[in-house]
Amino acid sequence: MTPPPGSPALAVLGSTNMDLVAYVPTAPRRGETVTGSAFRTVPGGKGANQAVAAARAGGAVSMIGAVGADDLGARLRVALTEAGVHTDGLRTAPGASGIAHIVVDDEGGNSIIVVPGANGTVTGLADGDEDRIAAAGALLLQLEIPLAGVLAGARAARRHGVRVILTPAPAQPLPPELLSLTDLLVPNEHEAAALTGRDDPHEAAAELLTLVPEVVVTLGAAGSLYAVRGAPPVVVPARQVRASDTTAAGDTFVGALAVASGEGCAMPEAMAWASAASALSVQREGASASMPYRAEIDALAR
Ligand code: ATP
Repeated sequence: MTPPPGSPALAVLGSTNMDLVAYVPTAPRRGETVTGSAFRTVPGGKGANQAVAAARAGGAVSMIGAVGADDLGARLRVALTEAGVHTDGLRTAPGASGIAHIVVDDEGGNSIIVVPGANGTVTGLADGDEDRIAAAGALLLQLEIPLAGVLAGARAARRHGVRVILTPAPAQPLPPELLSLTDLLVPNEHEAAALTGRDDPHEAAAELLTLVPEVVVTLGAAGSLYAVRGAPPVVVPARQVRASDTTAAGDTFVGALAVASGEGCAMPEAMAWASAASALSVQREGASASMPYRAEIDALAR
């Protein structure tokens, strides 16, 4: 995809977490101590992941949210800056950064504790955030910060005619006002089913279209489904690749989709380009570490 001059400006309002990942033979039961084989700290959070994905895909991205006043917060900020994300809108809140404490066992099963920490303080916009949103072509939202914060961002975007792209994860009932402020909803198939009670993604997408004007349901290795009012749905296949780690495939997809659509690509073409981005990410280990750069996406998508 030949980019037009200038990078599409995007704002992301959402979570930053440090993933604390311990690898063990078997997860400990209550009262038990087990010895693990390895430990990693990995920057994550759906907001930060989408910001990194979009920046690597060629967007000029501004991250809005909060890290804690601890060493994890400093590292999360550095990780975003190194990925080329603008962090002026990432405030430092008193207390701890958000963390996800992840125990991975030998069978690949995991148990996860999320402590929102500083993410829980993002209940509204701070100084300068409205301008950051107004300067963007689209605002990317997810649901790992309080709904009050998500709504404040969506309202600001609407005031300035900025497109709102909402990833409804983790799945939860959505307030009607948030849906009325959403231009493009991007659930995975499980989230689409949770929102509508319909397991068939086509049926779920059709129902979601009564609430928002455009929907992309991601279907894992089966690709993605685009539905817009007044036109038949379109399925864009995924790339046939050998996946080794699908962590953050969805966030990679959304970040790349926002860039391509910000550059004026029609949605099915933007989805094909985003599929190339996520196909690259699922072949590599890690969340943000696995996210591809624009040149790699272009080379695969060509
Ligand atoms: P996650 O929660 O892991 O971030 P998700 O459930 O939000 O992912 P998926 O629907 O699994 O999102 O995947 C998003 C996109 O990534 C898919 O639409 C597809 O293009 C691509 N993708 C995912 N899994 C694979 C795979 N095994 N092979 C090729 N492409 C894949």
